[in-house]
Order: sequence, then C-alpha cells, then structure tokens
Amino acid sequence: MSESTVQGIKNVPDYFGCNVFNEETMKQRLPKNVYKSLLKTKTMGTALDPDVADVIAATMKDWAVEKGVTHYTHWFHPMTGLSAEKHDSFISPTDDGKVIMEFSGKELIKGEPDASSFPSGGLRATFEARGYTAWDPTSPAFIKDNTLYIPTAFCSYTGEVLDKKTPLLRSMEVISEQAVRILKLFGSKATRVTTTVGPEQEYFLVDKKLYDQRKDLIYTGRTLFGAKAPKGQELEDHYFGNIKTRVHDYMTELDEELWKLGIYSKTEHNEVAPAQHEMAPIFTTSNVAADQNALTMEIMKKVALKHGLVCLLHEKPFAGVNGSGKHNNWSISTNDGQNLLDPGKNPKDNIQFLTFLAAIIKAVDENADLLRLSVASAGNDHRLGANEAPPAIMSIFVGSELQQILDALETGEMIKSGANEEFVIGVEALPNFPKDTTDRNRTSPFAFTGNKFEFRSLGSSETIACTNCILNTIVANSLKEFADRLEGAEDFTAELNKLLVETIKKHKRVIFNGNGYDASWVEEAARRGLPNYVSTVDAVPHYTDEKNVKMFEMFKVYTKTELESRTEIILENYSKVINIEALTMLDMAKKQILPAGMEFAKELCDSVNAKKSAGVSADLEKKLADKVTALNAGISEAIDELDTKLIGAGDAGDAEATAKYYRNTVFAAMQSLRAVADELETITPETIWPFPTYGDLMFRV
Ligand code: ADP
Ligand code: MG
Repeated sequence: MSESTVQGIKNVPDYFGCNVFNEETMKQRLPKNVYKSLLKTKTMGTALDPDVADVIAATMKDWAVEKGVTHYTHWFHPMTGLSAEKHDSFISPTDDGKVIMEFSGKELIKGEPDASSFPSGGLRATFEARGYTAWDPTSPAFIKDNTLYIPTAFCSYTGEVLDKKTPLLRSMEVISEQAVRILKLFGSKATRVTTTVGPEQEYFLVDKKLYDQRKDLIYTGRTLFGAKAPKGQELEDHYFGNIKTRVHDYMTELDEELWKLGIYSKTEHNEVAPAQHEMAPIFTTSNVAADQNALTMEIMKKVALKHGLVCLLHEKPFAGVNGSGKHNNWSISTNDGQNLLDPGKNPKDNIQFLTFLAAIIKAVDENADLLRLSVASAGNDHRLGANEAPPAIMSIFVGSELQQILDALETGEMIKSGANEEFVIGVEALPNFPKDTTDRNRTSPFAFTGNKFEFRSLGSSETIACTNCILNTIVANSLKEFADRLEGAEDFTAELNKLLVETIKKHKRVIFNGNGYDASWVEEAARRGLPNYVSTVDAVPHYTDEKNVKMFEMFKVYTKTELESRTEIILENYSKVINIEALTMLDMAKKQILPAGMEFAKELCDSVNAKKSAGVSADLEKKLADKVTALNAGISEAIDELDTKLIGAGDAGDAEATAKYYRNTVFAAMQSLRAVADELETITPETIWPFPTYGDLMFRV
C-alpha cells in the first residue's frame, strides 16, 4: 500500500481510482480500435484478439511502471476462500547485460501457477495438477504494493474449475441469457443483463497489543474462551453511535485506500456490538463486487495494523454479542439501464417486474438448500438462527404492500385479460414501495427492499462469489422454465397470467413477513415443509442432490465432479477449522488457564496457612480455595475429554462423517471445556488471569 499522502492534499474525485486501469485510463491510453475491441469483449463477452492483447498489455505495463510498479501478478480465488497471487517482475534481459521492462499479451491473458497445492477435493487425483489463470477483462486491473494485479479465473488444464470466480462468471452468462428471453417477450430490446451486488461488510477492531496476547484470536480469528464483560450491547448505545477518534482515523484511511482502488466505499458506521463496525460500498457488477469485496477485506486488515489495531473478519469473534455478517444486496439490470427489480411506473413494467419477482420466489423455494449451503461455514454456524442473524430457514420477506398485490394476483383480482390492451392489471400502476416500509424487517434472510433483494445470511469472512453464483443460477433456472412455457404460448398474456397465479400458489409458502427470530417460526416453517439445515454439515451434502446436479450441469456452471469436489472441500475445511480451534483450546487450557487456576489455588492455600498460624480465621480463603480447586479439576477433566474426543476424529470415516463427528462430538467437548474455564475466569484476580478479557478487547480500542 502506498503512503497515504493524498488525504487533505487532493480532492477525492482527483485520486479516486488512481490505482486502477479503469475505463477512463484505457480510453486515454489505448489506440481507439484496441479500446473498442476491449469494450466489445467486456460488454458482449467476445474473445480477445491476441494482437489486441499485446497492445493492452504493453499499455498497462507502461501505465504501471510510471507509478513505480515492478511486478505483476495474476490474482485468483482458489477454493481456500482466500485470494492467491504469485508475483513476477516485468524485467527481461537484453544482449548488453541490462534489462528492459516487458509484459506481453500472452502474459496478461494466461498464467500458469502450480495448482497442486490448492484444495481441489479429489480433482487433483483424477486430473492433471497443472492449472492456468485466465484474465477476466470485465474486472479492472489495479496496483497494490508496487505490483500490477490482474483479476483472473483459475482452471485446471482439463477444464475443471479450481476457483470461486469462474462459476460466478458462468452464472452471470446463464442468467443473462434466460432473462433476455423473458425480456424479449415483453418487447424489450435489451441484449444482455448483468447482476449487481452491493455487499455490506461488518467487522470488529481490537487493539493489536491485546490481540497479540490471545492465541485463540491469532490462530482462529475468534475467542474460544472468555467470560461476558459486565457490559455488552444491551444499552444499544453502539449502533450508529459516535465513532471513536482512533476508529475514525482508521475509517478515513480505509476509505482513502479503497477509493484509490476504485472501490465505492460509501457508508461507515458503528454496528450493534461494542467494537463492531460496518462499511457499505455502492453496488456494482457481481464479479467486480466479488473481487472488490475480497480486496476490501484485505485492505481492512492492512490498514488496521497501521493504526495499532487488528481487524477481525470472523463471523463470531465474541460469544454473547452479535457476530459479523455481510448483506448481499442483489439486483438485475439490463444493458439499456433498466433495473428489473424496480416495480416501475406503468402497467407493462409492473407485470414484467412481477414476472421476475415470481421467478425469484420460485427459485428461493425450490433451492433453499443451495442458498443455505452457499453461506455455510464453521464461523457462520454460530450466527444463523441465534437471534442475531436470520434463521437457517430460507424465506422471503416482501412487505405488506407487495404482499397485498401477490394476494390479489393469486385470487385473480389483479390481472384480467383485456381485449385491446396487451397487459392489463387491476390497478393503474403498482404503488411505489417506500424503502422504510420494505426494509423494516431485519430478521428475514431474503428481503425485498424496494428495488433489490437483500440476502442477509452471508458470513463476514467468506467470499460473496459462491452465493452469487448460486443466486444467479437458481433464478436463471426459474426464468428458463418461464421462457420455455411462454415462448410457445398462443396467447402470451393469458399464459403469463396463468403462470404467475400458479407460481404464487405453489411457492407462497416461502414468503414470510413475520419475525424470523421468533421460536414459533421454526415450527411454522416445519409445517410449511421448509427445510431448516441448522449447521454446515446438515446443509453442504445437498450440493450433490440430483435436482442440483441436473440444474448445474444443464447450465454448465458446475459438472457433477466439480460439485462433489466442492462438497468435499467445504466439509474438510469445516473439520479442519474445528480441529484447529480444539487444539488451540487445549493449548490455552493446559499452558495458560490451568496453570493460572493452580497459581490462584496455591496463593489461597498459602494465605490459609499464614492466617491459621497467626490464629486468624481463614474460612473465606478456604472456601474460595475449595471452589477454585474444584474448577481446576473440572478443567482438567474437560481437557482429557476433549483430548480423547479429538483422537477419535481419525476413525470417523469419510469427509461427511468426519465433519459430523467434529460438529456433534468435538464441538460439544469444546463447549464443556469453555464453560468451566469461563467460570474460573469470573473469580480469578486480573493479575493472575493469563490473557486480556472480553472487557479489555471490546472496550479498550
Ligand atoms: P441500507 O440497507 O443500509 O438501508 P441501502 O438500501 O441504500 O442502505 O443500500 C444498501 C446497499 O444496497 C448498498 O451497498 C447499495 O449500493 C446497494 N444497492 C442499491 N441498489 C442496488 C442494486 N440495484 N443492486 C445491487 N445493490 C444495490
Ligand atoms: Mg442493508
């Protein structure tokens, strides 16, 4: 990251995007025909001519070198869920023993990192280890740490997808194709649609010096022990509260760094939990949003260190207060600028909107399993259904205004076939949906918020690529079924009316406008037959259900083998995460907590002896010594239990059985150890307790 010298010196518009090879820079620097050709690739998805690529590469290199750049990297998103990069310098030797800076079209378009060390979930065994990265020209290249970053997709040489980006790009093509079919039926001239996403990112900031004293934060990103602080979030004083100076300085620099990278960081505020904050960017195209969100998370961590802070992106850093998520605001818009989830002002737009809405309702109902598993991770399991984030049951909130319209539609009051008009609808036009009424229910996982849907179940640390790939594909699937039926219809309007009524009738069970945190919803959802996959291990195996394999293969988003490999990777990752957490707990309990407890017990016993020999009553010390000794014994037993359970994991069986074992057996043993250790903390002097407490971490920022 370059030094932050711009603040206060230049205006934001002057430096916004200065480290991005963006549209404006391309227009300025590329020959007209080359720029046009690239634009065609970007907007129409056509292949790039190799000669054109050479010119773009050289221009990109010159631009970067002027900014002090020496290296380039193909930046990709392997199945680790993190981004990956391998840096090459531009240097190329000359005959006279010197170097020149060179960058060819071939190097821009294709890279060949060794794929063998990334998780491939069985693909590696069956296929060649070598993979390649391919430039995604629709996501702009950027400069970070004196390096030119080229966003790419990552595949094996036999074509299997090894990353999270490629399926997202495929899903965007798929939804575009199907949406255009529908639009055509409504007389639209749009030739392409893109999905757009605005991901709101939550995070915690803690003091680096305190963080460094906690092995759990260092190894796992969350606290594995910790009694509640006397104060939590009960006063509701942190949400939108005054921002502390140190945090404000952090946010200022974060904005500046993000703006230089062309990321539209827009809103920053304190969140519900103490030390919790949020950054919301302005939405952009899904793949760019996914790349920018990955970059945002990285920059958030880096900037924090410069302020003596650590940015925690884990879904549940602290028990007892809210964890962090990522709201995925999602919509679809056409290349002629229409937002398809905007109800519109005239009857034709209204009915087109209702068609897309019906497709989404159907998609969520039919594929609740996929949406749920797209947000599944060990970290997110702590939040979903814990009354701080939506439940694990997938449902849609539409709000009362839209509900009335859907009801009227279903009963046939809404749409009547008119003789003269093409689209006749019961009311003049749909009312405007004021944002404050549509956005009120924060407990729904999938809420209509006026002109977009907000999917609120995502975890804070995960890429948004997987969720958006699934969202795009399932909606494409509904649209395809609609288009197949409507294209062949003799009377389009009549058939559409029938289709909408049928769809609402069949899938309205997924609509729920009530309180998603209420315990009665769990029962009600079960009555409605909606799935409730409580944990990652319940959800993820559904990836390879027959209906899902069929859909993904039909759209060529994933092959069956790719789905199997992904399932295995997620389950293995889950087991590994819990394993690391268990090992870290054992380490802390054996080397820090139990020794502290024993030190405290000894101190008390010494005091008992001293008092006794002085002829003073030692009843209090003795009582406390007994209590501490009993807790120490409890900790020791819980350590042995967890040790034993952990050894048992080796015999659990395949990836799914192992993940289940970690969930049901290891995790339970971890909870027991934590409970008794946290109790000890509440009676141990601060001078003896071996690491910073919840109060220290959350209130001393
Ligand atoms: P809030 O949810 O905090 O009330 P908004 O609803 O205004 O705020 O916006 C939340 C997020 O939704 C922002 O990131 C915004 O850019 C994004 N957003 C707005 N319109 C769209 C759209 N058409 N597609 C995707 N995201 C959108
Ligand atoms: Mg929001």
